[in-house]
Amino acid sequence: MDVIYVSDGRIRRADIKIEGDTIARISDREELSSLQEVAATSLPLLLPGVIDEHIHSREPGMTHKGDLWSETRAAAAGGVTSVMDMPNVVPPTTSLETWQERMELGAQHAFVNYAFHFGATNTNADLLTQLDVTRIPSVKLFMGSSTGGMLVNREEALQKVFASSPLPIMTHCEDTAMINANMRAIQTQHGDDPDIAFHPLIRSREACIASTRLAVRLAESTGARLHIAHITTAEELAIISGKSGLSGKSGKSGKSAASLPSITAEACIPHLIFTDEDYLTLGTRIKCNPAVKSATDREALRAALSDGRILTIATDHAPHLLSEKQGGSRTAVSGMPMVQFSLVAMMELVSDGILTLPRLVELMCHNPARLFEVRDRGFIREGQKADIVMLKPSVWTLTKDQIVSRCGWSPLEGRTFRWQVAETIVNGTAVYRDGHFLTDTNSHATALRFR
Ligand SMILES: [Zn+2]
Repeated sequence: MDVIYVSDGRIRRADIKIEGDTIARISDREELSSLQEVAATSLPLLLPGVIDEHIHSREPGMTHKGDLWSETRAAAAGGVTSVMDMPNVVPPTTSLETWQERMELGAQHAFVNYAFHFGATNTNADLLTQLDVTRIPSVKLFMGSSTGGMLVNREEALQKVFASSPLPIMTHCEDTAMINANMRAIQTQHGDDPDIAFHPLIRSREACIASTRLAVRLAESTGARLHIAHITTAEELAIISGKSGLSGKSGKSGKSAASLPSITAEACIPHLIFTDEDYLTLGTRIKCNPAVKSATDREALRAALSDGRILTIATDHAPHLLSEKQGGSRTAVSGMPMVQFSLVAMMELVSDGILTLPRLVELMCHNPARLFEVRDRGFIREGQKADIVMLKPSVWTLTKDQIVSRCGWSPLEGRTFRWQVAETIVNGTAVYRDGHFLTDTNSHATALRFR
């Protein structure tokens, strides 16, 4: 088919032939230089399917909010063809048995390609050397942050995780002691359940900075590969800059995790699109941990997307029912659905000139593939698996009826977008087109392989 595609730092017009589950042949024609030129051709715009390294499907144990089927269908509708699911489910993915059970759930229910991060606890560091590095992307470590009982708060336990993990360590960096002290101080003045506007003061920037500093120190002393999840402050960017000097340009070598710096950072969509002023209108809908912070922080994060300090963009897709989002800073649950609209939301940044199109593809497709050494995915190249999202220019407004996630709401309702997902192809099979799913089975999806 005659298309425009983006991969490896370039926008090209080409004939692309898919055979079975593989990109069989690419016959390049001319090169284009901008999104405006792309829109003017009226040809389909193809990107590698998005690899979302950070989602919470809620299965098992919290399936009233979402499950692998419902949330990976939402992913497919958003052009996301691979997801890496987090371990804080019930029971948590912190043993070899619970990880194996989740892989079976993935095979049964995941509509896109899938993998499950392994969760570190205060007591399971001995298991880390036994993990299958070809099937598990990372060890997720909640550094002093209490989420789903996976808090690792003893320095010796942290040290042991960093020293023994054969996989990249993906950290949630917030200092619980500082957060608890902030909560008590603010409760004294503003009552037991302070207004949501206090959330970024309770889950403060200082709590993030202190925890990130500790993670960097442990990584440097042990030589571990550290990937800091959902970075939110300008100060944390300063801490990792110099340590995270990946150039904005793409190399030819697709699987070159070795060429990445050993300390890297992920930005998540909520922190790239919202600021603390949005608590006034969106309230607890945008409550997440770490908290959405100031406009200055958002600008710093956006700048870091282009200069290489941020390696990847993910969603931290974390669906909850709206009924669970009631209350204030203490009682409303944290997290929001995002996986269905991450790509179109970031295409807005491209349309606004904040990011280039090739850079977007680096952040959402190439770099997750490089970091975790995903086999055969993340690029549009001959011989890669045919995981592809097709976009078309179209001005549209997000309404409730378009939402696929089980929770049935989005913090982006009412927003207008300039690009739309026209089609999603997983392993060579078109599974979603123009607002409709093309299949009710998941035989096209497969477990991700690494390294
Ligand atoms: Zn998360």
